[in-house]
Amino acid sequence: MKKLAFATLAAAGILAVSLTGAQAAQKFITIGTGGQTGVYYQVGGAICKLVNKGTKKHNIKCTHTTGGSTKNINGIQAGDLDMGVAQSDWQFHAYNGTAPKQFPNGAFKGLRAVFSVHPEPFTVVARTDSGIKNFDDLKGKRVNIGNPGSGQRGTMEVVMEKMGWKMSDFALASELKSSEQSAALCDNKIDAMVFTVGHPNGSIKEATTSCDAIIVNVDNATIKKLAMDNDYYAMATIPGGMYKGTDGDVTTFGVGATFVSSTATDADTVYQIVKAVFDNIKRFRRMHPAFAHLDPKNMIVNNLSAPLHEGAIRYYKEQGWM
Ligand code: GLU
Repeated sequence: MKKLAFATLAAAGILAVSLTGAQAAQKFITIGTGGQTGVYYQVGGAICKLVNKGTKKHNIKCTHTTGGSTKNINGIQAGDLDMGVAQSDWQFHAYNGTAPKQFPNGAFKGLRAVFSVHPEPFTVVARTDSGIKNFDDLKGKRVNIGNPGSGQRGTMEVVMEKMGWKMSDFALASELKSSEQSAALCDNKIDAMVFTVGHPNGSIKEATTSCDAIIVNVDNATIKKLAMDNDYYAMATIPGGMYKGTDGDVTTFGVGATFVSSTATDADTVYQIVKAVFDNIKRFRRMHPAFAHLDPKNMIVNNLSAPLHEGAIRYYKEQGWM
């Protein structure tokens, strides 16, 4: 019963819970991430691990949930989450109010950037026997476009609009979560899956080792124009040899994964989270191959469109980075 009450309090974003005895009041913070086989889940796990190592000192206890970019930002706005991982395009749209479908409450001016993480190429994996050789071949096929609330779903919808494609142009447009899509691909329930994600990741490893599947180029003129016209997109390369079946480099466009919060999360808490990550950046880099090349100097400026959180600024200034 007690456990249940704790879980409910944490989920509701109520931060301070009084404990008896020697322990002082602990702050429970919840980070919104993504499906277990993606990289966001690893970001949340790594941050929480570093934060929870210091709980005795700062009294913050960190947990992380699944969801995806737009769900995480909406969760932060609703007060259900304290922080979250989100694609740079959705950070931009949430702050500026330029995506009413994903963010029906309009511009979220309380959104705050904390730092950026790894690059996320828009990744299309197709069964070899589907005949799909590049992005244009998806039309008429069975495609997983992602669950509502995920970044890839939103970004796929943007791309579809630019390509002039409707849902009915696919033989099937499934809405599976990222953790479900590789099994669906290898069970021949879908021909292709779309995932905006860091590399390497478990989802695409699963798809390319459990059945014959390849990563295809997403580089037609419409895509190149989309990447050129918007600051939060850029052309990207998925290096060859990372996954079975895809030996050559793949050209696509991409976004950056970012870590965000809001003005409702206090500066001291954000300061401690940021400190836990950057004081241990070498360790953080080793926690997932997608983090191997992270450089603090870039992480505090790249792909951030909302203003930096006050608590993050305090740490970055202390380090002389600002
Ligand atoms: N970019 C995806 C999203 O926003 C998640 C990728 C991941 O789980 O690593 O939903």
